[in-house]
Parts: sequence; C-alpha cells; structure tokens
Amino acid sequence: MNKRIKRNRIRCKCCGDIIESRQIYDFQQCSCKKVAIDGGLEYAKRIFPSNPPEKFYDELVEYE
Ligand SMILES: [Zn+2]
Repeated sequence: MNKRIKRNRIRCKCCGDIIESRQIYDFQQCSCKKVAIDGGLEYAKRIFPSNPPEKFYDELVEYE
C-alpha cells in the first residue's frame, strides 16, 4: 500500500529555495534551476542533476 502524500516539498541546497508541488502536473523549479519537483499529492517526482540526490536538495516530503 502506498503512503499518501500530505505535502510534496524539497529545499534546494544550492539556492535555499523551498519548492512545493501542490497538485498533479504542478511542476515547480527553484530559482537556480538545479532541482525541480512535480506530482503534487499523487507522486513525489524529483528532478536533479545527478546522484546522490541529497547532494542537491533536502527532502521535506510529508506523508499522512
Ligand atoms: Zn536552487
């Protein structure tokens, strides 16, 4: 069973922006454009330049 997402957020470690995707297909990019998220409350998609992801952003997702 999948966990339900309550808030879909990450913080970019490069520019410090916190970006949040509030609904499906709500694509958000930080101001330095290194990281982006999508999926809203349906799925937690992260776009980042290379692994490991924790090099580029702090994961702030919250589940129900
Ligand atoms: Zn950034």
